[in-house]
Amino acid sequence: METLLTPSPSSPLPNSSSISLPKTPFLHPISKNLPRKRHQIVQTSKFASFLDLEPKLKPFFLDFDVPWFNPTDRARFDVIVIGAGPAGLRLAEEVSNYGIKVCCIDPSPLSMWPNNYGAWVDEFEGLGLGDCLDKTWPMACVYINDEKTKYLGRAYGRVGRKELKLKLLCNCVTNGVKFYKAKAWKVEHKEFESSIVCDDGNEFKASLIVDASGFTSSFVEYDKPRNHGYQIAHGILAEVDQHPFDLDKMVLMDWRDSHLGNEPYLRASNLKFPTFLYAMPFDKNLIFLEETSLVSRPVLSYMEVKKRMVARLRQLGIRVRAVIEDEKCVIPMGGPLPKIPQKVMAIGGNSGIVHPSTGYTVAQTMALAPLLAEAIVECLGSTRMIRGTPLYNRAWNGLWPLERRCTREFNCFGMETLLKLDLNGIRRFFDAFFELNPHYWEGFLSSRLSLGELFMLALCHFGHASNRSKLDMVTKCPVPLVKMIGNIALEAI
Ligand SMILES: Cc1cc2nc3c(=O)[nH]c(=O)nc-3n(C[C@H](O)[C@H](O)[C@H](O)COP(=O)(O)OP(=O)(O)OC[C@H]3O[C@@H](n4cnc5c(N)ncnc54)[C@H](O)[C@@H]3O)c2cc1C
Repeated sequence: METLLTPSPSSPLPNSSSISLPKTPFLHPISKNLPRKRHQIVQTSKFASFLDLEPKLKPFFLDFDVPWFNPTDRARFDVIVIGAGPAGLRLAEEVSNYGIKVCCIDPSPLSMWPNNYGAWVDEFEGLGLGDCLDKTWPMACVYINDEKTKYLGRAYGRVGRKELKLKLLCNCVTNGVKFYKAKAWKVEHKEFESSIVCDDGNEFKASLIVDASGFTSSFVEYDKPRNHGYQIAHGILAEVDQHPFDLDKMVLMDWRDSHLGNEPYLRASNLKFPTFLYAMPFDKNLIFLEETSLVSRPVLSYMEVKKRMVARLRQLGIRVRAVIEDEKCVIPMGGPLPKIPQKVMAIGGNSGIVHPSTGYTVAQTMALAPLLAEAIVECLGSTRMIRGTPLYNRAWNGLWPLERRCTREFNCFGMETLLKLDLNGIRRFFDAFFELNPHYWEGFLSSRLSLGELFMLALCHFGHASNRSKLDMVTKCPVPLVKMIGNIALEAI
């Protein structure tokens, strides 16, 4: 164990610059309760290490009162939202804001969300949600390789899950949203009304059902083959002896691979299907670390991702004392949109909102839910009662108007391009990408660019690219490019 985790002589020393403590109440109680002693680690294999540590933080519930719906009331709702994740609560909050009668169904509406979410600060601030970031970094950095690091002057934040969930819940409660604790089991439709049967046998009726149950949703239909790519990652929030990262920069991507020098198999597979490290350093002993496959198809083996992470942390001299939380991240990316329109509306992970080239979803969900709410309110608002097919049409086209469907096609093209690049191709790609005018790279990552701007971005990217990278684009992109143009043309007809 000692040899496995002892810092290598070449490891940089941890940065000692000071930062203010994360203001989240979420982190303080945990670190307060954490035993400071080293945990005994039983090493069972070459790759055992922090992987053997049990996460200290167990799932917990928010201490918050919500109005529970009593099924004997037999009330009828305008909108039922399935799922109290970020998407479900944001939509419930927005729709109920207009006086629409909403019920949100989830097996555990007050459970803390399990994932560590990151977002660009300007995205959250622009939505009035800046107070829901529990830690921010003024800059981000990208390690292209051992020689080259790019510094991005764009602030990044970790979403305060507790702050965001409480804010959304508070607004929901103020607006009269009811909650029901159950799993939606079956959805049925009549001409102007839908109903949900829950796993406890109770049935609820509404004019519109919105499925916000995440990636595993079974209520949303597709009419095209689902050829997703997948982002897969292993993440830990860890107490460490030390780490080498600056405290004022989050590490968006670390593509260095020198840690695999003594691992010929891992090195070869990483060259073909690369993974990078994503890191959010909270202080010199507390850091979130995630080894990530940006996108792969079929999905890269989870065990392989974890083995690479062990080798990387060893090389970086990061000795994990305790794992506070861990997460397995599998995000389906790209592929076709759900069938538009259909009788169940969708928002969040199951609705096509996931950025096909990056996997980012939360900020975009926060931004699009109000637009979907407006479309729903246009139909169900007090002065109108448009239901059935015109309502489904309006809602789906509110979330996915033509321009947004076309820009998503472009982003899927980005994903298809990334799928074709090996480690060196990816490095060249991002080397040129982050040289672009920030209007373009920031806008691309935040889904803010129009189709015209995206084509300009592609041209500028090509212009900035090295000759090898241009060759990559010319030889590897034609098929995805033709597909994208074809799909955009089909959308436009
Ligand atoms: C580990 C991980 C890390 C991620 N990190 C980021 C990130 O840093 N930044 C980012 O932008 N995106 C990130 N994502 C992607 C995306 O933002 C998240 O998946 C996000 O949680 C999606 O929100 P959601 O509300 O659509 O679904 P979920 O968060 O999955 O919420 C779905 C809710 O529906 C409930 N539910 C499920 N089935 C039913 C049912 N049948 N009936 C009733 N309720 C049901 C669940 O209990 C849950 O509460 C990450 C994803 C993962 C998996």
